[in-house]
Amino acid sequence: MYKVAKLIFKPRVKSEEEILDKIDAILSMLYKNGQILDNWIVESRDKCYIANVITTDDDSLDSKYYNGYILKEVENFEIDTEIICDDPMATDSCHCDEHNYYILAIYPSENSSPIICGNCGKEISLIHIPYIYKEEEHYSILNFQRTYNAVDTLWMDSLSDRFTKRQIVDHNSQLNKIGMEICAELEMKLGKPVYYLLCNPIGGWFEFEKNNKNLTACPKCNGEFSKIDNAYADKVCHNCRLAFYTVDDGTQ
Ligand SMILES: [Zn+2]
Ligand SMILES: [Zn+2]
Repeated sequence: MYKVAKLIFKPRVKSEEEILDKIDAILSMLYKNGQILDNWIVESRDKCYIANVITTDDDSLDSKYYNGYILKEVENFEIDTEIICDDPMATDSCHCDEHNYYILAIYPSENSSPIICGNCGKEISLIHIPYIYKEEEHYSILNFQRTYNAVDTLWMDSLSDRFTKRQIVDHNSQLNKIGMEICAELEMKLGKPVYYLLCNPIGGWFEFEKNNKNLTACPKCNGEFSKIDNAYADKVCHNCRLAFYTVDDGTQ
């Protein structure tokens, strides 16, 4: 379960401006490392600063998860952590020992981990996912999530925009290619299939019939789907490593 937590920074440097810059840098690094979610509030208290954050698990603020960037910056502070409570707005995260497969599923407007466990269907905290592309943080995955959400917002807010719709539904779009490349890279690191959730059909109420036609074959290879049992997808193409969610087209 995600947690509401406090990070208490006791500075070892003097200048207030320098302290605030460094705290902001550390929080950004913790986000890119999958240890906290985006968005935090910092309070100034007597001789210390307290950052109110959402962290991904009981132990996810532990220094054992720090990367090289964070280790270098934390030298300037004594840092205490305190878990306050479960995040009542969050869903539970995966605690399986094994994952038979994974799905990269960007769920619009979510900013927690987009990596879904194939066994329990819950998200896996990024602290338990290896870095990709020789990075020492989860920059590519989180950046892709932000870009995808930006495209999705544009689609939702400018309903007839063909460009944003194509980016989301077409497996050949630049956006989806980036997602599929991340899956291929993750698969190499994890040694298990990693599917990319292709949001086709796009669903929603706008032009209902046109946007709610479920596919009957894989749009990339025209091959047959295999059924899976997962909260995020109900069919996959094993060949293309694509996953799909059947929308309610109003016929049932
Ligand atoms: Zn799981
Ligand atoms: Zn296929």
